[in-house]
Amino acid sequence: MLLEKAMFVRSRTRRALVCGAGGFIGSHLVRRLVDEGYWVRGVDLKYPEFSETAADDFIIGDLRDQDVCRRVIDGHFDEVYQLAADMGGAGCVFTGAHDADIMHNSATINLNILDACHKRNIRRIFYSSSACMYPAYNQEDPDNPVCSETSAYPAAPDSEYGWEKLFSERLFLAYNRNHGMSNRVARFHNIFGPEGTWQGGKEKAPAAICRKVATERNGGAIEIWGDGHQTRSFLCIDECVEGTIRLTRSDFAGPVNIGSEEMVTINQLVDMVAAIAGKSLTKIHIPGPQGVRGRNSDNRLINERLGWKPSASLRDGLERTYAWIEQQVRGGGDARADNEAA
Ligand code: NAD
Repeated sequence: MLLEKAMFVRSRTRRALVCGAGGFIGSHLVRRLVDEGYWVRGVDLKYPEFSETAADDFIIGDLRDQDVCRRVIDGHFDEVYQLAADMGGAGCVFTGAHDADIMHNSATINLNILDACHKRNIRRIFYSSSACMYPAYNQEDPDNPVCSETSAYPAAPDSEYGWEKLFSERLFLAYNRNHGMSNRVARFHNIFGPEGTWQGGKEKAPAAICRKVATERNGGAIEIWGDGHQTRSFLCIDECVEGTIRLTRSDFAGPVNIGSEEMVTINQLVDMVAAIAGKSLTKIHIPGPQGVRGRNSDNRLINERLGWKPSASLRDGLERTYAWIEQQVRGGGDARADNEAA
């Protein structure tokens, strides 16, 4: 018993900082790091929405403010995870209405965090880039999208969100080259799971579809943006956290995809969720922002460099996500919000 306690106290000397710890991926990551025995500080504009944070210390602060960054990064951290960003689903990213904020806010956060860590001699930051940085011209064929890491250039992301991600991943890698840092860059592909945003306009396709299916009666109809033939792959949150931690502790800087290779059409995604719910539903296709026609992760590089790649099935993740969203819908809230995303 005593030995156990001593070991626990010793391991808690490892310190991690999670920026964006009030968000979807950040809150799950905090929980995992605490479970591993890390002392964790989280920082965000807000606390996690759906459960209490597991962080030992949680600072409410705006990382666009250099003073806040310096206060948060006030000493040594063994690992820093930079997930804070202005983001959302297609309803937020692809309309163009938020471009200036998305670019300004996220770039400022990244510049500030890098500067503060560099000054504190913190050498390793994990940075979450996005598959949205891949060129639109390689994602026009829904059956054969190209998202290998080397296909990034000539650059032509289809959103300003993607351009900012591309700039920032280059920034993190420039600090590696010029300042001897060991930053790690991942390109996340559509992460979903329990405790993700499910209504209000920033939710992504799996959550939006789960909500629509959960709120519709058997035999009813749900609206889908576009013709539903656009393809995507979706990675469950547990695998995202696993890949993030593995990459951070590896000797590979990236950029590398962290995503699923199980590509489905949005229509197939709807059918899968309807089957999980045991409902028969008609799909009504309406105009709406959709992003590129096809996108899928290419996991050859992560497999080669880390000896690991995500392997859980989409169905498994959807079952858990649907159960959680159905519970939220039953618990109240404005489940009729009409946004969806990809
Ligand atoms: P999220 O929106 O749930 O989390 C981001 C968090 O950053 C939010 O809690 C937000 O409050 C916080 N934040 C924003 N501006 C801030 C500021 N100025 N100061 C402090 N905190 C601030 O998003 P997420 O899904 O958890 O994504 C995390 C990261 O992964 C983001 O960088 C995102 O771009 C990237 N990513 C996510 C996905 C996905 O499918 N979820 C895909 C690709 C990339």
